[in-house]
Amino acid sequence: MRDYYEILGVSKDATEDEIKSAYRSLAKKYHPDLNPDNKEEAEEKFKEATEAYEVLSDPDKRKRYDLLGHAGVNGQAGGYSQGFGGFEDIFEDIFGGFGDIFSGGFSSSTRTGPVKGADLRYDLDLSFEEAVFGTEKEIKVRKHETCGTCNGTGVEPGSSKKTCPKCNGRGELRYVQQSPFGQFVRVSTCDECGGTGEVIIDKCKVCTGTGKEVKNKKIKVKIPAGVNTGSIISIRGEGEAGERGGSPGDLFVFINVEPHDIFKRDGNDIYYTIPISFTDAALGAEIEIPTLEGTMNYTIPEGTQTGTEFRLKGKGVPNVKGIGRGNLYFTVEVQVPKNLNEKQRNLLREFAKESGEDHKEGKKGFFDKMKDAFGS
Ligand SMILES: [Zn+2]
Ligand SMILES: [Zn+2]
Repeated sequence: MRDYYEILGVSKDATEDEIKSAYRSLAKKYHPDLNPDNKEEAEEKFKEATEAYEVLSDPDKRKRYDLLGHAGVNGQAGGYSQGFGGFEDIFEDIFGGFGDIFSGGFSSSTRTGPVKGADLRYDLDLSFEEAVFGTEKEIKVRKHETCGTCNGTGVEPGSSKKTCPKCNGRGELRYVQQSPFGQFVRVSTCDECGGTGEVIIDKCKVCTGTGKEVKNKKIKVKIPAGVNTGSIISIRGEGEAGERGGSPGDLFVFINVEPHDIFKRDGNDIYYTIPISFTDAALGAEIEIPTLEGTMNYTIPEGTQTGTEFRLKGKGVPNVKGIGRGNLYFTVEVQVPKNLNEKQRNLLREFAKESGEDHKEGKKGFFDKMKDAFGS
């Protein structure tokens, strides 16, 4: 499948307006009715552009596409046959006043078929550990499900639908109209029956004829190890119920991960800073360090400077795709000892002397020298 940005010929950071105008010009160029000589090829291109537009013009879908590619929006973009609102709007826009000419071929006749239910979004907060190691969560979603009493037909059990009196069961209404291009027949969906050609006389008492009922549904969500803020888990068929026998929409769980007290996460890598004593830094030592799996011993070499970063390969967050893990990085911060007793002071003075340091203490400090220098 081609890249949606490539299809529309826009950059990855294109604005909504740029996307809309790119789609507009492609739609004009490839509209099947405007390409009678190579109708099939034009229709393919038209569908392709429409699918790309449908995804990139919707901020949620675009985000999913940017994150997960075609898989992130798979099954969402059904081309122009699904009668989605945004497309009809832009269609009006493109063809302006004479858009009606095409309406028979596009919007109205497709409105009567099954329509997929709306997708749902659920925002889920996870602790740092839950995101790193994966978990299973039960979430409660309030949504429209197919009515169990009438199986979504909206008809009271024992009764049946009747032929629509307004359109005589055709589902569409036709009017002859005059236009600058000559006479044409305007076709529109029957407003009485919504294009189905049938009306319900005896409505189902449970759903009052809508074919749906609102339910609070508990859904178990498996969270794979390695998810992060911005990850989206899609659950097929757990969105809103469809219309006229259409399949239900999908449920998209948007993940938000809470920060950790010690660990900072960047992608699959973990970072933190750990204090060490200056003796440990100078002499080298085995120190206890935290990892995702608990503490472990780590040997730092002698002469370790403050700010040194150590890497533990493969001790980071598991890759959400199941292969490999990130790294763990920790930086040491050497602590200068405070509140020394007399013995400690003397040992340090001895240390300074042994190091050949010109150590002058308290007698003439920096500020005294400054006073001397400026003669005050
Ligand atoms: Zn019902
Ligand atoms: Zn009708």
